[in-house]
Amino acid sequence: MNEIIILSGKGGTGKTSLSAAFATLGKPVTVADCDVDAANLYLILQPENYFEKRFITGYKAVIDYDTCSACGLCIDYCRFEAIAYQNKKVILSEISCDGCKLCSRICPCQSIRMVASDKSRWYAGIYRNGFMVHARLAPGEENSGKLVNVVREHARKMAHEKGIETIIIDGPPGIGCPVISSVTGASKAIIVTEPSNSGFHDLKRILELTSNFKVRSYVVINKSDLNEDITEQITGWCAEMKIPVIGKIPFDKQFVGAMLQCKSIVEWAPGSEASKEIMKIWNSVNDLNQ
Ligand code: SF4
Ligand code: SF4
Repeated sequence: MNEIIILSGKGGTGKTSLSAAFATLGKPVTVADCDVDAANLYLILQPENYFEKRFITGYKAVIDYDTCSACGLCIDYCRFEAIAYQNKKVILSEISCDGCKLCSRICPCQSIRMVASDKSRWYAGIYRNGFMVHARLAPGEENSGKLVNVVREHARKMAHEKGIETIIIDGPPGIGCPVISSVTGASKAIIVTEPSNSGFHDLKRILELTSNFKVRSYVVINKSDLNEDITEQITGWCAEMKIPVIGKIPFDKQFVGAMLQCKSIVEWAPGSEASKEIMKIWNSVNDLNQ
């Protein structure tokens, strides 16, 4: 199985646009949208979901005021300071509650029950060029790393069942826990950066992470013509570090137009310079398998 992950040090560098382009360039693929905190690849690929499943991110304590004696014992025990007195009543903050369940165990009146946080969902579907697994982490819910694992595992299963060789993973931005869950076991990583000092800085951080996980990495500089000096600096630094720069995509307003039409740039403007460069990048990515 060839698992290609597309990453960037921060959001807004063109990672999802590149993932969408790869996902619509010919051969059938399975797409795993692992950017579960801000999933938007489905807006472009428009999968017909035939599968929707609840994802339990954790548990939250709920007080039953019919039986609570307001003794305050749970306030003393909660080390997350999620419970407090307010007008002689114990009030629980859902946001601060870590779901450790301790209060439900020590409450002398059995007035606290634990309720599953199950507003998050994950989906499997079919889109115009293959199959897609994506997810939506409900606002304020945690455990995105675990949800990423679910998405990846199901994408693998789906690719295996459908006889598809390539999985394209749209990874989360940054270098946090969900990125680690996405990158583990990937065949190769395409790091999308842009020519700015912060982009260069983020690129170094993410390359350090992929190197720690022994995932071979390749760099794509998006909007490369917006600052040719920094593009040169990035290219020179990558050459020194022996990290291949496999593409430099020029700035193109048609990316926005494509998104508004729920299409990838290679579908919307196949003759544009940006599309031609992306097709070249995709060919090099596939040649790297040989
Ligand atoms: S420990 Fe139980 S009875 Fe006491 S205040 Fe908390 S919820 Fe109410
Ligand atoms: S479950 Fe744990 S974190 Fe939540 S209120 Fe009870 S003791 Fe505090």
